[in-house]
Amino acid sequence: MKRVVVFTGAGVSAESGISTFRDSGGLWEQYKIEDVATPQAWLADFELVLDFYNQRRKQVLLAQPNAAHLSIPLLHEKFEVNVITQNIDDLHERAGSENVLHLHGEIRKSRSTIDPQLIYNIDGWELKKGDRCEKGSQLRPHIVWFGEMVPAMDEAIQITAKADIMIVIGTSLEVYPAANLVSYVPDYCETYLIDPNAKIPAHSSGIRIINDKAGNAVPALVKKLLENE
Ligand code: NAD
Repeated sequence: MKRVVVFTGAGVSAESGISTFRDSGGLWEQYKIEDVATPQAWLADFELVLDFYNQRRKQVLLAQPNAAHLSIPLLHEKFEVNVITQNIDDLHERAGSENVLHLHGEIRKSRSTIDPQLIYNIDGWELKKGDRCEKGSQLRPHIVWFGEMVPAMDEAIQITAKADIMIVIGTSLEVYPAANLVSYVPDYCETYLIDPNAKIPAHSSGIRIINDKAGNAVPALVKKLLENE
């Protein structure tokens, strides 16, 4: 069975009503990244950081998977499928995708501040001051902040290096090291980039660009790949 690797960014969830990073008028224009999404922000004012992610979690809980998320698990019929996402929402899982690797963490989970192995599901939308891990430390959102290591990157590179078909969806390819992932596809891999504002990544000349929204383009591409296999 051929292996399809689907690599997604904030754009795949845009039609579910979750703001992308760089949308004008979007959520990130109201905050400075360094105030809410860095280790320094946590040290300076962890209640502001908790509140910021509580609001994001509320938004994710209200959102539903869209046609793009829902079409990806159909690929399982004829392919081995891995999803690698930069997103912190759980819309791929709720759409039925298995094998989802989150490069930047998961908003519906919390993590100990003294032992990164201690990860918990968050019930509902709120993570509060005083919520503690079993070793007694304050819990933080299970998110990879700007300036932190991306622990899942090595696994993502290994998966990408075995791709026969790579589908990149809704990412500006500007957040590193995740953006580098496309440079690890093997030479024989068919690579597609679906994004209404797609720019050709410098290191991938053979990439097929589909300048369209994920909700239209992903179901159409999935249908084509299944028909041709
Ligand atoms: P980005 O905001 O930098 O880029 C989003 C891309 O999506 C843009 O290129 C835009 O043209 C495209 N896009 C917008 N609407 C689209 C649609 N309907 N269909 C297809 N593409 C569409 O996002 P990024 O590259 O993922 O990097 C931002 C970082 O912020 C990521 O690391 C991610 O962790 C985080 N983030 C996550 C979420 C989420 O979990 N849903 C939301 C915002 C930001």
